[in-house]
Amino acid sequence: MLNITEKTIRALKQNRIPARYMETAQELFSCMDSCIASKDMVGTGDSETLNALGVYTYLRNRDIFFLDKYGNNVSKDDKRNIYLNNFKTDVFISGINALTAEGKIFNLDGNGSRVAPIIYGPKKVLLICGTNKLVYTDAEAYERIRSRAAPLDAIRLGKNTPCAKTGYCVDCKSADKICNYYSIIQGQFDKDRINVLIINGEYGY
Ligand code: SF4
Repeated sequence: MLNITEKTIRALKQNRIPARYMETAQELFSCMDSCIASKDMVGTGDSETLNALGVYTYLRNRDIFFLDKYGNNVSKDDKRNIYLNNFKTDVFISGINALTAEGKIFNLDGNGSRVAPIIYGPKKVLLICGTNKLVYTDAEAYERIRSRAAPLDAIRLGKNTPCAKTGYCVDCKSADKICNYYSIIQGQFDKDRINVLIINGEYGY
């Protein structure tokens, strides 16, 4: 009988989304060595998973044009330019909020700068997630986001939302609401564009 990782990879492939399982972060970096060419323009979404795995540091050490929004002197206008340039990248890299055994990729976003280039623009997209993000059903994916991913992100971002205080979503109407855009990806025309890389272990939330 297939375990949840095997089921998820099989379902993603049926949805025309290539997926790979990796035991270690080192395997991930070897994979990125071959997926990202020298001089490529590379963008990233905000992601605690990428942070925990050391992906931002890896990218800063590559001979690429990394659209790095995390520097000290990056202004609000600079960030907007980075978000717009992310659409033109050779490779865009992001995390995932929940990944179902039916091969559906769930992400939520406050301003859309992450989910929009995942869906359209960059030539290649790498979506990286720890096995802690795997769930069986859509209902479990929503529950995972409402009870864990979104509240913890609201706390990290210092948002004044109910979930930042209680730890659970109450479908707020707050001006600080971070879940303005949900995306569910369940297929793609170009079967080589979005790739999912699943890493064994707990990375991000
Ligand atoms: S809708 Fe509001 S309460 Fe619910 S997770 Fe998003 S920010 Fe938190």
